[in-house]
Amino acid sequence: MRKLETKTIVVASHNAGKIREIRDLIGPLGFTAKSAAELDFVEPDETGTTFEENATIKALASANVSGLPALSDDSGLVIDALGGAPGVYTANWAETADGVRDFQMAMWKVEAALKDAGATETQARTARFVSVLCLAWPDGHTEVFRGEVEGTVAWPPRGTQGFGYDPIFQPQGYDTTFGEMSAEEKHGWKLGDPQALSHRARAFKLFVETCLEA
Ligand code: IMP
Repeated sequence: MRKLETKTIVVASHNAGKIREIRDLIGPLGFTAKSAAELDFVEPDETGTTFEENATIKALASANVSGLPALSDDSGLVIDALGGAPGVYTANWAETADGVRDFQMAMWKVEAALKDAGATETQARTARFVSVLCLAWPDGHTEVFRGEVEGTVAWPPRGTQGFGYDPIFQPQGYDTTFGEMSAEEKHGWKLGDPQALSHRARAFKLFVETCLEA
């Protein structure tokens, strides 16, 4: 396990929602971070078939170009009644013919697939959000952290906060979707807390424990 010795890193992402959340999480730890989007880095092709592979591809690409450690996130929604779909293809389900991402459309697609699968009752709509964070150094060393949060797919979508599929994900034990939660509620974690709520904050907590704490 390698410790991170610098407070200057690249957030290896072009996704505004993820960049905002990673900034929320690293900000209080005193990091200075530019994103791959702000640095105009080319987005690498996500050719992996696992969250771990794709997170590693993205982090190594940014670390190589910048010469700095880079932190990436590969994430997605894994729905049991759909055999794990959309999974690593969660972003692709939002892609339109003209190459932009439309998450309203993506959420309707998820609902249509659940209907086709006969999954209309809450207990048939179990799912989890997965986030795999990868910290890569310019010499090629990587550390990988996985966070997951269990929940159900809600319909219709509720809430306007967060990003992506947040309005249809209701974490277990809560009456609200991620779309109805403030960023603080969704993370459910700050430095020193024993547990986190969101998949990303859970993975981030492991990153802190492994790479930052003595
Ligand atoms: P990728 O990791 O760039 O391949 O894309 C992940 C996809 O999962 C994106 O379409 C996101 O919108 C979605 N996603 C990941 N994490 C979250 C989250 O915390 N809330 C809502 N959608 C998410």
